[in-house]
Amino acid sequence: MVALQKFTNLMQLFSYFKDEQTCRNYLETIRWNGTVTCPYADCGHDKVFKFSNGKVYKCAKCRKQFSVRVGTIFEDSKISLQKWFAAIYLITAHKKGISSLQLHRDLGVTQKTAWFMLHRVRHTFGLSTGTEKLTGIVEADETFMGGKESNKHKHKQTEGTQGRSVKTKSAVAGIIERGGELRAKKIESTNGYNLKPFVVKNVEFGSELMTDEWLGYKGLAQLFKHSFVKHNEGQYVSNNCHTNSMEGFWSLLKRGVNGIYHSISQKHLQQYIDEFVFRYNTRKATETYRFDTMLNNISTHLTYKQLTNAGNNRKMEAEQGAFGF
Ligand SMILES: [Zn+2]
Repeated sequence: MVALQKFTNLMQLFSYFKDEQTCRNYLETIRWNGTVTCPYADCGHDKVFKFSNGKVYKCAKCRKQFSVRVGTIFEDSKISLQKWFAAIYLITAHKKGISSLQLHRDLGVTQKTAWFMLHRVRHTFGLSTGTEKLTGIVEADETFMGGKESNKHKHKQTEGTQGRSVKTKSAVAGIIERGGELRAKKIESTNGYNLKPFVVKNVEFGSELMTDEWLGYKGLAQLFKHSFVKHNEGQYVSNNCHTNSMEGFWSLLKRGVNGIYHSISQKHLQQYIDEFVFRYNTRKATETYRFDTMLNNISTHLTYKQLTNAGNNRKMEAEQGAFGF
């Protein structure tokens, strides 16, 4: 994937994407790179005709018509691509995320529209999470999010005092390669049945693994050079052995969720995690790279319907209640 155009601020983005046709051309290049392909399932034919209006194509095989929006999260939306692109830029550029209220103000769309846009874009963050195994020095840690914890005062949210029950909270496992990428996932519970497969799936055998003394990590020394941080003895950094990088990410994630989104339903938690993981893993990249990566995910991987398995608007509206705006 190549960065096609450089933007370092919203003004530059708007001056480049000055009309719908420019946006369409950009999306077509990112999506098809010169070979327009029929987007309908079970077809994918690359012999197509372009209509003279410059917007619509017709497949020579299945005879169906399509635009570049078909098969993407933009498909059944009346919002201009210019606004979609601005939204994607804003969502990926803000380090701590952006609320639907803020997006509504910034783009001049209704808050309901802003919520739809955020929701759809957020579904695609997870597609960017790498699948390569982490290596070198790797920290694994777990935390709890959501539920009643978010209603409590800051000083009462201290890790470890909340217990490991997942009745009102969700358990989240995280792994970070020091100086490298991060993976994080909502898990059923913090026992070994959930934590160990997550570590094994994401970490190269033989790597240096650092965790706290939680029982859920016991037994991993057979596969990794496993050292433990002894939190209980007040020993947080022993030589090089600590989980500070992972803990730093947890506080970033929690601050983001509490500060911007206020409350989130457990159902949507993985999407928020993916959003913050995406930002973390692209922290050294340019804003253009982040924008193009998102656009690439949106246009080439999956449609919104496929992502949610239920794309009807009635369901979406019911979900809005969970956000309580
Ligand atoms: Zn076709």
